Amino acid sequence: MPIYEYRCSSCGTEFEEFIKRGAESVRCPRCSSAEVERKLSLFGLKASGSSSCSTCSGGRCSTCK
Ligand SMILES: [Zn+2]
Repeated sequence: MPIYEYRCSSCGTEFEEFIKRGAESVRCPRCSSAEVERKLSLFGLKASGSSSCSTCSGGRCSTCK
Protein backbone atom coordinates (compact mmCIF):
# COMPACT_ATOMS: atom_id res chain seq x y z
CA MET A 1 0.00 0.00 0.00
CA PRO A 2 1.58 3.26 -1.07
CA ILE A 3 2.32 5.98 1.40
CA TYR A 4 2.16 9.57 0.27
CA GLU A 5 3.41 12.71 1.93
CA TYR A 6 1.12 15.67 2.06
CA ARG A 7 1.48 19.28 2.99
CA CYS A 8 -1.49 21.29 4.15
CA SER A 9 -1.99 24.50 2.20
CA SER A 10 -3.81 26.12 5.08
CA CYS A 11 -1.56 25.59 8.08
CA GLY A 12 1.58 24.08 6.55
CA THR A 13 1.44 20.82 8.44
CA GLU A 14 3.24 17.98 6.72
CA PHE A 15 1.95 14.47 7.21
CA GLU A 16 1.93 11.02 5.68
CA GLU A 17 -1.11 9.10 4.62
CA PHE A 18 -1.79 5.54 3.57
CA ILE A 19 -3.82 5.65 0.40
CA LYS A 20 -6.44 3.04 -0.16
CA ARG A 21 -7.57 2.56 -3.69
CA GLY A 22 -10.65 4.60 -4.39
CA ALA A 23 -10.20 6.79 -1.34
CA GLU A 24 -9.41 10.28 -2.52
CA SER A 25 -10.37 12.36 0.48
CA VAL A 26 -7.28 13.34 2.39
CA ARG A 27 -7.55 15.94 5.09
CA CYS A 28 -5.10 17.72 7.30
CA PRO A 29 -4.92 16.01 10.71
CA ARG A 30 -4.44 19.36 12.39
CA CYS A 31 -6.99 21.73 10.87
CA SER A 32 -9.12 19.27 8.81
CA SER A 33 -8.60 21.30 5.67
CA ALA A 34 -9.01 19.41 2.42
CA GLU A 35 -6.59 21.73 0.67
CA VAL A 36 -3.52 19.54 0.81
CA GLU A 37 -0.74 19.11 -1.70
CA ARG A 38 0.66 15.69 -2.37
CA LYS A 39 4.39 15.37 -2.31
CA LEU A 40 6.44 12.67 -3.93
CA SER A 41 7.40 9.88 -1.60
CA LEU A 42 9.81 7.11 -2.45
CA PHE A 43 8.95 5.06 0.57
CA GLY A 44 5.80 3.36 -0.70
CA LEU A 45 7.09 2.95 -4.22
CA LYS A 46 10.19 1.02 -3.31
CA ALA A 47 8.41 -2.01 -1.97
CA SER A 48 10.00 -4.80 -3.98
CA GLY A 49 9.26 -7.86 -1.89
CA SER A 50 7.83 -10.86 -3.67
CA SER A 51 4.73 -10.93 -1.49
CA SER A 52 3.83 -7.26 -1.56
CA CYS A 53 2.77 -5.32 -4.62
CA SER A 54 1.84 -1.66 -4.50
CA THR A 55 -0.48 -2.04 -7.46
CA CYS A 56 -2.67 -4.98 -6.58
CA SER A 57 -1.45 -6.05 -3.11
CA GLY A 58 0.02 -9.27 -4.36
CA GLY A 59 0.07 -11.71 -7.25
CA ARG A 60 -2.61 -10.34 -9.51
CA CYS A 61 -0.94 -7.88 -11.87
CA SER A 62 1.87 -7.94 -14.42
CA THR A 63 4.15 -6.08 -12.01
CA CYS A 64 4.35 -8.78 -9.40
CA LYS A 65 3.74 -11.95 -11.37
ZN1 LIG B 1 -3.87 22.10 8.08
